[in-house]
Amino acid sequence: MHLKKVEMIGFKSFANKTTIEFDSGFTAIVGPNGSGKSNITEAIKWVLGEQSAKSLRGRKMDDVIFGGASNRSKAQYAEVTLVFDNSDHLLNIDTDEVGMTRRYTRAGESTYMINRKNCRLKDMTELMMDTGIGRDSFSIISQGQVEAIFMQKPEDRRAIFEEAAGVMKYKNRKKEASNK
Ligand code: ATP
Ligand code: MG
Repeated sequence: MHLKKVEMIGFKSFANKTTIEFDSGFTAIVGPNGSGKSNITEAIKWVLGEQSAKSLRGRKMDDVIFGGASNRSKAQYAEVTLVFDNSDHLLNIDTDEVGMTRRYTRAGESTYMINRKNCRLKDMTELMMDTGIGRDSFSIISQGQVEAIFMQKPEDRRAIFEEAAGVMKYKNRKKEASNK
């Protein structure tokens, strides 16, 4: 499984529909300061379930929606789709390609979709859990995180290995069950 494409509409600086394609190997994104490189990684994190506006460098969730420019009015919604190559069926879905979409409108309405069918955020996070992707996994290592991992307490560091070993899903379910 690998990320094939990121499609953004009205997300941060990407007012127009913008598609970024990735090959299966190594990809580097280069560009001048302020051209939107970090916005692309944030678009990915956002679909993976990031709920904190602050960790997307905003104050509120509206800040992910294109806010307008001198020659262009602001967008009414932001939508990002991640397209995964699922030919190895690591994601527990029949299709060889899986699209995961998140949309957020200025009215505050959130939509999540798997292969363009509405679903809950929970369905998306469950699908991704233990695949190495997901909000709390280590598929995205941001600046400062490497140091933080080394400075952690051993029991916190253990969580990284639990995620990698695939026990996170069961731990989450256990926690959910005991909260009921
Ligand atoms: P650097 O090389 O400095 O790290 P970068 O390529 O990572 O730069 P980003 O931080 O991704 O650049 O892009 C920042 C740009 O995105 C800024 O110009 C900012 O104004 C713009 N931007 C962020 N949020 C929005 C928004 N909601 N609407 C319009 N533009 C936005
Ligand atoms: Mg940047």
